Amino acid sequence: MPAADIPIIMYHCVNDQLDASPLGFLGFTPNEFRAHLSYFRRRGFECVTLPELWAIAEAGDLADRRLALLTFDDGYLDNLLIVAEMLEEFGAKGTVFATLDFVGSGGVRAGADAPGAWGYLNESELRHLDQRGTLDIQCHTMTHDTVFVSDRVIDFYDPARGSSYFWLPWHLDRAGKPSWMNDLTAHYQKVKRGHPIFEYDRAIPSRQFKPSDDFIGRSVDLFARHGPDCLAEINAVADKGSFETVAEWRKRVEYELTESKTRLESLLDKPIEFLCFPGGGYNDECVEAAETCGYKAFMLASRQRQSGNPKRIMDGIRSGRIAGLSRLSITRDYPSALRGERAAYWSCRFAVESYLKSRWARWATGMAKLVRGALRPMVRRRGT
Ligand SMILES: [Zn+2]
Repeated sequence: MPAADIPIIMYHCVNDQLDASPLGFLGFTPNEFRAHLSYFRRRGFECVTLPELWAIAEAGDLADRRLALLTFDDGYLDNLLIVAEMLEEFGAKGTVFATLDFVGSGGVRAGADAPGAWGYLNESELRHLDQRGTLDIQCHTMTHDTVFVSDRVIDFYDPARGSSYFWLPWHLDRAGKPSWMNDLTAHYQKVKRGHPIFEYDRAIPSRQFKPSDDFIGRSVDLFARHGPDCLAEINAVADKGSFETVAEWRKRVEYELTESKTRLESLLDKPIEFLCFPGGGYNDECVEAAETCGYKAFMLASRQRQSGNPKRIMDGIRSGRIAGLSRLSITRDYPSALRGERAAYWSCRFAVESYLKSRWARWATGMAKLVRGALRPMVRRRGT
């Protein structure tokens, strides 16, 4: 009997105060997450860690188990304060992909030490979680940076206009990354208003463009005098900075993949063999580099999502090549009137069962299309 497909779910934070952080859009409330867990339990899924999943596959036992894998990216503090206990309540486990730049120092915190539970897991907390066994820790690279990838200015940095460029201050204050969410006002002030924003992308697959100090100064001056409407003027400046060379880029990729692996291995005293590229940002050369570093599997970007995880795992184990595993993200963008546990349960069920191509999900998709088709003429009529 072939092994049933294995849904791998992508989570980030689980938090009661999602509005308190610019990253809240990534999260679920504890009640919503609990509804997901009750779905997995009710449908008989066994939620294991990624190394456990690998060991089951290596033992040839995939076909005998109904497995799911819950993964948590970035290494948020709420994974310790909220998620771990909830998983234990449901007899479930999962894997956290931690980014080393966000990992600070300090002791293991309890809820009272971190009102709102926002922040990142520190070294002691990563060690504590990994030893506790509920949440295994794997690698989400060193920096999680976003970088400029062209010399075309597309915007100006200006928190007063509701800037979403929360990643730009990370470049200037790398040491402050573990605590950047603790004081967002101070965080945004680290970069001067009017700093140019060039076209940007995920750091790992991209050759970085570095603006010169002189150009940044001109941009800041121009913005102070004319506001955001001087894009054409600033783009007319001839010499804006320089691109990193291919050799520099390769060195950076190697640093992102190996330094993080080595540091986690010495911190947790175990092999780190699984990788998640931040934001699904990688190309073929990055995947090859990851294989050379000794990673056994990585998470595929959502654009490459397709079913068939058991086959990819077994192919990887047999060939010794790195395996790309498909992940699902469950959306939270159901109408706000429906927010709550029930909507969370059904959206989780729909996402997972669509992935598994269940008959129920096909029926639900068909019904949704029918309802949409029936409503469309009414909506059109009302609009005229
Ligand atoms: Zn991430």
